[in-house]
Amino acid sequence: MAGLVLARGLMLRGLRPVVLERAPADATIPGPIMLPFQAYDPLAEIGLLDAIRARGLDIPPFQRGTPVAVGVGRQIVLDALREGVDVRHGAEVVDLARDGDRVVGCVIRTAGGDAQTLPSDLMVGADGARSTVRGLAGFDADVFAFDTAQLSWRSPVVPREPFGIHFLPDGRQVTVVGWPGGAAGGWQIPRLEGGAHEATAAGFDEFRRRFASLVPIAAEPLAAIGPADWFYREALGVRCDRWWRPGVALIGEALHAMNPEAGIGSGLGMGDAQALAVAVARNPGDADAACRDWEHWRRPALAPYLAIGSEGVRVVRGGEPRPEEIWPPAP
Ligand SMILES: Cc1cc2nc3c(=O)[nH]c(=O)nc-3n(C[C@H](O)[C@H](O)[C@H](O)COP(=O)(O)OP(=O)(O)OC[C@H]3O[C@@H](n4cnc5c(N)ncnc54)[C@H](O)[C@@H]3O)c2cc1C
Repeated sequence: MAGLVLARGLMLRGLRPVVLERAPADATIPGPIMLPFQAYDPLAEIGLLDAIRARGLDIPPFQRGTPVAVGVGRQIVLDALREGVDVRHGAEVVDLARDGDRVVGCVIRTAGGDAQTLPSDLMVGADGARSTVRGLAGFDADVFAFDTAQLSWRSPVVPREPFGIHFLPDGRQVTVVGWPGGAAGGWQIPRLEGGAHEATAAGFDEFRRRFASLVPIAAEPLAAIGPADWFYREALGVRCDRWWRPGVALIGEALHAMNPEAGIGSGLGMGDAQALAVAVARNPGDADAACRDWEHWRRPALAPYLAIGSEGVRVVRGGEPRPEEIWPPAP
């Protein structure tokens, strides 16, 4: 999403970016995203906010005013963003081309297995928490596993309210997000040595019962699904002090991946992209000056989020959990 917003922002300013995407053109991502308000400005600028909001559910459903977030299909957002963009699908970045210290392009491997070198004025790694570009360009990043994992589910049944949340005593959350295509929920549990096996050992029926007792609007969506719609996920965190080097920059999760419990990752990445598009257009032919401008403007906007971190959203009640608030249950 961050890369596509950057591309649209550059196109708006008369530039011609190319997006390299290793996934094939027909790959789709199921389920919703909770698009946070931080995404509104970047999406409005490229003329997509109203169309995306019209295909989602406002959270909360105000009569007037601006919602805090919009629950919408991830693929709907991606399809809207990529319309008209030169996206080369099946193109995996596997190396960078250099002239001394400067990155001047990249090597891609195509779906057919061929290698091609493409020149660039500025290469932007918007390639997610496991960023290949970050590693190839030699950014010194702190990449770490969070102490919190997510046990989540997807259902085709739309909940009776678009959003529900229950904070556990330690501030972790149990959440449901609705969208016109159904609902998705997540229980933030401690990361487990035994991974998915340990997290799901007590069975889906017990999980469903406890989840719905904590967030009642989950009852109907959960009644319609089974263990095949249930997933254990561990997210990676990323902190990177340096934002760019000559000829190459990082944005979005490649630069600062947060735990999904924060619910704002997409908005922060889109904000990075919008600011970088402005900076590039203001510094024609000078990628380093553009990156410098971008960092000067964007760092103060991002600094509070990075300082507080994903855990900043926790509402800590303290005390002992009630039996139904414990997952996995004691054996
Ligand atoms: C479980 C989960 C739930 C989340 N829920 C929310 C939420 O509700 N709200 C929210 O705001 N955020 C949420 N996030 C975060 C959100 O998904 C990201 O912030 C958002 O996807 C934008 O990230 P990005 O564009 O930086 O990277 P990504 O979405 O990771 O995109 C990176 C892209 O780069 C491509 N790529 C990777 N390597 C290469 C390569 N070598 N060559 C070519 N292409 C490559 C990938 O195929 C991918 O398309 C969630 C994240 C997770 C993991």
